[in-house]
Amino acid sequence: CVVRAAMFDNLSRSIEKAQRLIGKTGTLTAENMKEPLKEVRRALLEADVSLPVVRRFIKKVEERALGTKVLEGVTPDVQFIKVVSNELIELMGGGGPGAKDLEPGFPQIILMAGLQGVGKTTAAGKLALYLKKAKKRCLLVATDVYRPAAIDQLVKLGTAIDVPVFELGTQVDPVEIARRGVEEGRRLGVDAVIVDTAGRLQVDEDMMGELRSIKSAVRPSDTLLVVDAMTGQEAANLVRAFNDAVDISGAILTKMDGDSRGGAALSVREVSGKPIKFVGVGEKMEALEPFYPERMASRILG
Ligand code: GDP
Repeated sequence: CVVRAAMFDNLSRSIEKAQRLIGKTGTLTAENMKEPLKEVRRALLEADVSLPVVRRFIKKVEERALGTKVLEGVTPDVQFIKVVSNELIELMGGGGPGAKDLEPGFPQIILMAGLQGVGKTTAAGKLALYLKKAKKRCLLVATDVYRPAAIDQLVKLGTAIDVPVFELGTQVDPVEIARRGVEEGRRLGVDAVIVDTAGRLQVDEDMMGELRSIKSAVRPSDTLLVVDAMTGQEAANLVRAFNDAVDISGAILTKMDGDSRGGAALSVREVSGKPIKFVGVGEKMEALEPFYPERMASRILG
């Protein structure tokens, strides 16, 4: 896995420090957790997790830590880390049955949503290759009629991974393209239709309106919000806006190989209640991995 450990370095260090502050004797109390919790809080804010998410997280850790019976032979510092770890896993959507999986469907219809430049078209191609490797036949659908380059890009990606791309140029309504694309997918008998959509530089009503129309036209099994891991604190607002507008089923976090501080990974679930299903870890078509909250938590905790 190439998700950079570096992005959580500070967090790992702070949690180590918190552990030292608590020490190995006595029990966890509101008093002896005060400084350690401050450490964790600071580290999360430095990792670009949004403030309300951090507040709720710290409160939960405190409640759980105070409410948990100390197990025989477990020192309070270890107990503290265990609670932090469990809460991190929960924060990132762990424990849910098969949360990372795509929803079933015949065919599966996967609607890609997100701002421009986040890696949406790349993620559509990556997902097609991922499904292809799982022996599923796919069709990609290009509906970004505002940027001819986006259609060309998807066609090129499709050619590179040998997956057909449905497009009708830039003169047809995107909703119509999506509808006919899905029809074509059914006609071809593919297992999955992946509909790429137009993004904007910022959340705007036209984009959301178009997404809503495409969504009601094709009734996707999954609506995946593509989020750039570099988004930082703004990720929380972004996820909320898209989830309110089109009720996403999950997210793909891209550019996790970059220098981001990782906060977005901790905000998606908390804000929307929806899981991160995949992470993008590079520009290549192969650079997509299912998201495992447990693994991410253990990487964060070092
Ligand atoms: P879109 O406008 O959202 O469709 O964005 P694109 O798919 O065109 O991607 C924008 C840029 O981000 C391109 O240069 C991609 O190669 C790059 N990109 C996409 N995903 C990743 C990723 O996971 N890691 C890295 N390093 N770059 C990525």
